[in-house]
Amino acid sequence: MAHKCGNCTEIFGMLSEYLDLELPLAMCQEIDEHLATCPPCVDFVKSLRKTVDLCRQYEPSETPAPLGEAARRDLLAAYRRMLTGEFAKPEKIELPR
Ligand SMILES: [Zn+2]
Repeated sequence: MAHKCGNCTEIFGMLSEYLDLELPLAMCQEIDEHLATCPPCVDFVKSLRKTVDLCRQYEPSETPAPLGEAARRDLLAAYRRMLTGEFAKPEKIELPR
């Protein structure tokens, strides 16, 4: 099953909002459909959900907080790794000499 990178970048742009359930239903369905065919994105979402859960544990505020500063930075870093292909190619290892 081919990985549609073009789709992924769009999807990833929406993911943080998707996790906060702030997206319109149609967009959520679009993301769900993409996730159904794209294992790399599923893994990514799982790690994001973990991040969000941790964030909410650390900050038990009265109102449900959106992604915290640190979580957003993690998301952005992971997103950039994904865009440069490193996320999809974990076997790319450079040995020190
Ligand atoms: Zn994808």
